[in-house]
Amino acid sequence: MCTPPSILIIYTGGTIGMKQNPQTGALSPFNFEQIEQEVPELQKFGYNLTTRSFDPLVDSSDIAPDIWVRLAAELRDSYHQHDGFVILHGTDTMSYTASALSFMLQGLAKPVVLTGSQLPIGMLRTDGKENLISAVEVAAAQRHGQPMVPEVSIFFQNRLYRGNRTTKHNAEHFNAFRSYNYPPLAEAGITIKYNHPYIHRPQRQQELCVHTRLDPSIAVLTLYPGLSPQHVHAVLTSPGLRALVLLTYGSGNSMSHSWFIDMLAEAIGQGLIVLNVSQCQAGSVNMDKYDTGLTLKKIGVVSGADITLEAAITKLMLLLGSDSEKDSIISALTKSLSGEITPPQTLQD
Ligand code: ASP
Repeated sequence: MCTPPSILIIYTGGTIGMKQNPQTGALSPFNFEQIEQEVPELQKFGYNLTTRSFDPLVDSSDIAPDIWVRLAAELRDSYHQHDGFVILHGTDTMSYTASALSFMLQGLAKPVVLTGSQLPIGMLRTDGKENLISAVEVAAAQRHGQPMVPEVSIFFQNRLYRGNRTTKHNAEHFNAFRSYNYPPLAEAGITIKYNHPYIHRPQRQQELCVHTRLDPSIAVLTLYPGLSPQHVHAVLTSPGLRALVLLTYGSGNSMSHSWFIDMLAEAIGQGLIVLNVSQCQAGSVNMDKYDTGLTLKKIGVVSGADITLEAAITKLMLLLGSDSEKDSIISALTKSLSGEITPPQTLQD
């Protein structure tokens, strides 16, 4: 008889693990170790479920790199005891955590599925039960004796996405997440249909290698009509700044005023890494398309291709933490580390 899959569920905090106090109506976290009492359907899988809870619980707006390090270390320490992992997380920064973990867990060969909910699991119309049950099913799913989705993913409202391609796009609807530049890895209807060609599966057995050094010395500068030289100067001269995500227009365009280009060129000359990420959520940066993009390319701005802001920020933190030289960081930025970008040569015009 084969042994049932063993799944570790880690509850970090967020709406999903809350219950309404019938007297006061207020929401507060329930004891997550008793999740199988709240969601008895979980027992029907017949899996070995282990649950752990963060203490204290963290609203995901308070997530910071040290919590990613803690989560990654917990996954590393439990890696060989379990077949799959489900992380319950607030939705607000779930895409950042999924992106960070996808870069930190190199050589991952088991599923790490993040999920959460818009309504607490203890409420009648909750989306949490559905999300949790499906996330557990995905974490346990196998194909030819191997994990079905050995990636960091997000399951939300019937869809499984590659985590580092997602963005929280809706604060009210149950379908809170989107992956604009990469198709869903699976869709849940009557059955869960996996989108096999888009799921990354390691070619050979790899060892998990957990990177826990992150350097958050970065800033994000959003372009908008009327952006002042004072503001740009303040950002570019902030102490310790090593990399800047420049949130540009359309296919990676910026204003062409010489004060702006000169300030940026000077900062790049002094060692700053500038990554061009589009304010558009769908589509890709292409700095060869317009003069305004070409100017950025000429001064050394690096194309972020079709990366999300969440993946750009966390990828930079990981690369800066790696002690690599500026040139190798730039080269890594233009390549896919964990499926977070479509490398420019494979993009269609
Ligand atoms: N503020 C909450 C959080 O992100 C919202 C949620 O759980 O979805 O932790």
